[in-house]
Amino acid sequence: MIPAPKEISLLQGQLPVPEKLKLSSSKSISPDLLSALKLIRASVAEDDTGTETLLHRFSALPATDPDTYVLQIDPERITVSASSDNGFRYGFQSLMQLMQIHRKAGFIPCQRIIDSPQWSWRGLHLDVSRHFFEPDFVCQYLDWMASLKLNKFHWHLTDDQGWRIESKLYPRLTEIGAWRKAEDGSSYGGFYTHAEIHRIVDHATALGIEVIPELDLPGHCLAVLAAYPQFACFPKDFEVMNTWGISDDILCAGNDEVLSFLKEIFSELAELFPGRYFHLGGDEAPKARWKACPKCQKRIVELGLKDEEALQSWLFRELAAHLKTLGKEVIGWDEILDGEIDSEPLVTVWRGDGIEADRKAIKNGNRIILCPNQFLYFDWFQAEAENEPGAFGITTLEKVYSFELSDYDQDKSGLILGAQANVWTEQMDSPGRVRYMLFPRIYALAELLWSSSQNRSWSDFQNRLAELESAL
Ligand SMILES: [Zn+2]
Repeated sequence: MIPAPKEISLLQGQLPVPEKLKLSSSKSISPDLLSALKLIRASVAEDDTGTETLLHRFSALPATDPDTYVLQIDPERITVSASSDNGFRYGFQSLMQLMQIHRKAGFIPCQRIIDSPQWSWRGLHLDVSRHFFEPDFVCQYLDWMASLKLNKFHWHLTDDQGWRIESKLYPRLTEIGAWRKAEDGSSYGGFYTHAEIHRIVDHATALGIEVIPELDLPGHCLAVLAAYPQFACFPKDFEVMNTWGISDDILCAGNDEVLSFLKEIFSELAELFPGRYFHLGGDEAPKARWKACPKCQKRIVELGLKDEEALQSWLFRELAAHLKTLGKEVIGWDEILDGEIDSEPLVTVWRGDGIEADRKAIKNGNRIILCPNQFLYFDWFQAEAENEPGAFGITTLEKVYSFELSDYDQDKSGLILGAQANVWTEQMDSPGRVRYMLFPRIYALAELLWSSSQNRSWSDFQNRLAELESAL
């Protein structure tokens, strides 16, 4: 199985692989959870047939982690025990994998699995700006995540190459900002309506996945400037970018209208996402325009700020304070540590091996999500082969598997929540290409986040991966 469970004990006998599952519960199981479990696999029977599958809610916790589950396979029935809905989901996902692995043989060996996750943040990111993906595919992506017990979906919704989320307050963001002109003159783009966002978020919630939306700012905003040029330091006719890279034109931090725009857009969009977090980007924002802009310079003088980095930190703090009033916590890329921030924001540590930013964040007291590009950027090549798709360096399956979170937590600060892999889609123009870049690396990601170091071994992982892939 992947990810490797904490503890498996083999028992006497075997259970024929069920065609259908007949769910029953000893204690109150919410209708929401029942429909969520049916969403995981359609093999849950609607009628009264199928292998008896008992859902048992622990009255007392067997362990401190609420996500713990116990899955027991007996010759005539299956029991999933947990104390939280997520515990049931994870137990159910393990059952699905066991059924898949043993389908050809026809029998599942009787066994008891006792399991819980090592890290609480087990994330996967998807960039839908560089290339746009339909809601059905995003739901499929969430299904893949859930099947491997990943629980945080970081949704990169805006960038220079396209704004992908409907705003009723600022309709030009999608009328103009969601579309770019391709080299052949055709128009490329798309966006999610509020109804589509609801559908995707509901799907994620049923699977036990929290959605973390990202609006990247103040850089990576050419799609905004194409729609509303007055938000630039030096307004002109901007176009949504149709190449990759970094733009010097960013949002003007000296313009009060920009601040109002951002606060209004966050207020509008925060309602669509029930989760705790909002990612504000903060990466790769060149300061050339701010250095030359009278408004930005005036703001720096008025607020007594040191320089343009400090101006970006001020903007981040203003928006974080606003999001706090909406009940949200904020996350930023590790560039936010280059200026002065307080200890509240979470930091996605991405540059290089992440060690320097990790130390800086721990010193400043910020919580950390590790996603160092050398290990966890799934847009990087998977192999050295000719015609291998990808960019930058090489991140093989083994390299992903070798990533060790506890190496970053030497002072046991407890500030590291977990990790995520990032899927930047400059080189991925179709669902098939995303799938190619994701698999099999997503298996390694899931295991290094769920299973403890003592429970993991590269050679054993390769065997289990082969077993799982041959069952697909
Ligand atoms: Zn400016």
